[in-house]
Amino acid sequence: TYVVTDACIRCKYMDCVEVCPVDCFYEGENMLVINPNECIDCGVCEPECPAEAILPDTEGGLEQWMELNATYSASWPNI
Ligand code: SF4
Repeated sequence: TYVVTDACIRCKYMDCVEVCPVDCFYEGENMLVINPNECIDCGVCEPECPAEAILPDTEGGLEQWMELNATYSASWPNI
């Protein structure tokens, strides 16, 4: 799955949301998150992000952001 990280905070360009084929982005006040249960790992959002905030969870050191994406995608509205 792909993960939104802190570079998204107050960015919200939404280019990623436009290209996601399964609409798995969720929106909070300051950032977006990806629902890890819905992401199909296609990778098309990663190069679309102008803030380079989206990374594959295969990269190391993202545990905190993986947890945050999972937690908040369960309560924030789908966009
Ligand atoms: Fe959506 Fe694909 Fe990005 Fe997952 S990797 S959030 S399915 S665009």
